[in-house]
Amino acid sequence: MTFKPHGKHLIAGNWIGGGATFRNQPASGEASSFSMGTVELVEQACKAAEEAFWSFGYSSRASRADFLNAIADEIEARAVDITAIGCQETGLPEARLNGERARTTGQLRLFAKVVAEGDYLDQRRDAALPDRQPLPRPDLRLIQQPVGPVAVFGASNFPLAFSVAGGDTAAAFAAGCPVVVKGHTSHPGTSEIVAEAVHAAIEKFGVAPGVFSLVQGGRRDVGTALVQHPMIKAVGFTGSLGGGRALFDLCASRPEPIPFFGELGSVNPMFVLPHALKARAEAIARGWATSMTGSAGQLCTNPGIAVVPEGADGDSFVASVAGALKSIGPQTMLTSGMAEAYRSGKARFETRNSVKAVHTSESAGRNASPNLYEVSMNTFLDDHTLAEEVFGPLSLVVRAPSAESLLLLAKSFVGQLTATLHMDTEDTDLARRLMPILTRKAGRVLVNGYPTGVEVVKSMVHGGPYPASTNFGATSVGTMSIRRFLRPVCFQNMPEELLPVA
Ligand code: NAP
Repeated sequence: MTFKPHGKHLIAGNWIGGGATFRNQPASGEASSFSMGTVELVEQACKAAEEAFWSFGYSSRASRADFLNAIADEIEARAVDITAIGCQETGLPEARLNGERARTTGQLRLFAKVVAEGDYLDQRRDAALPDRQPLPRPDLRLIQQPVGPVAVFGASNFPLAFSVAGGDTAAAFAAGCPVVVKGHTSHPGTSEIVAEAVHAAIEKFGVAPGVFSLVQGGRRDVGTALVQHPMIKAVGFTGSLGGGRALFDLCASRPEPIPFFGELGSVNPMFVLPHALKARAEAIARGWATSMTGSAGQLCTNPGIAVVPEGADGDSFVASVAGALKSIGPQTMLTSGMAEAYRSGKARFETRNSVKAVHTSESAGRNASPNLYEVSMNTFLDDHTLAEEVFGPLSLVVRAPSAESLLLLAKSFVGQLTATLHMDTEDTDLARRLMPILTRKAGRVLVNGYPTGVEVVKSMVHGGPYPASTNFGATSVGTMSIRRFLRPVCFQNMPEELLPVA
């Protein structure tokens, strides 16, 4: 690897270091030192973002499309170094980092295409009716406008696709909003090299430098100052329920409240219906084991709970999952803290008599290995903590005594990113009864698949009722995510020459 982090923040085109430092904790290789974020840096970045908005927010769609494509090019130009530092810092395998980089640049290029085409503006027009009685109607046009500077919190579990130049940043730039990123403390070197790529694209196109800043973390007050800064008009966040809720509350209690688009926790329940279970328990079990343990289970769409009918077919399904998990060894987690949190989450299951351990394994240090538990419907319904996410490769089977109980269990879940049905044609009547419940609970409902692997397309919804997200009218993945950073403005009797450039 040739890239060696210098440990500075990028504030409106200037690399700024100094002051207190923190060290990253790479899963392999040497640790590096990084300048800690400060409230003063947040202030500088937000002021520069507001200044930049007066040009970037009113720039042509073609120029923003070129800018997004240039960021993708600059990321690809640093591909080898990005993968190397990303693997080092997160412990994720090389293939995953390469795939995530392709997803990140593909996302930027897709958004460039959408911006160039202009449909995202959702333009509407009601032509004037000068002869209408008793009063004439004026000419009315609706055009979406960018909201202003956006704060983005880099996610720990997607160091590229949900971080510095990830989905939130791409969506904000597409809309015409400058971005101030709060880098995630677990991968500051990866954040730095991606910020270099954005910086290079800014210089290439002569974009106002305040359009992008990266303030590294290390201190809690960086995030709180950022969401409370009066120049910030919206926030994109992926992370924990606790952190997301704290920041959401800060946004709501500002003198000028702003939208907080938080993508938080989810257990993504999976319902295995009786005929599918009888026909292909083994195949569904193997698929589930692979999906729940991919990326060490550190995916927001990890299917953490399976609702499975009681009886012999269900028993053989549970045995097959346990068998498949036996061959999956320990994997490195994103941070030691997360590995500790995983073990604490596991302890919650171990200490309950009513919870049956189906497959357990011990792990130490920054590693996590799979664990599977089983409970009855009544135990699950009596203890809501069993329905809380354990971040990592831990899953729970809930046994349903009847078809009616599947409906009852479905109703018991809080908001989810996804819900999955495994079904055969003979299960259609039961599935039809589950659908109104599942569509009310989840942002994406899928059949005979696994929710991990989120397509970046126009019809994707990655969001859902609270606590899956804090803004259930929105998605953080796919082209509709651009809408989060736009605000509808109606133009009445406006001469063409005064309408927005868009
Ligand atoms: P996190 O703790 O929520 O942190 C995410 C970001 O928010 C970080 O930049 C963090 O800054 C900031 N933050 C958190 N709480 C804050 C507060 N009260 N005030 C100001 N800033 C705050 O998430 P994480 O570090 O990614 O992972 C921790 C846990 O979150 C995991 O163990 C897992 O349970 C969950 N998680 C879930 C998902 C998901 O998709 N469902 C994804 C990732 C993580 P600091 O640098 O100051 O901490």
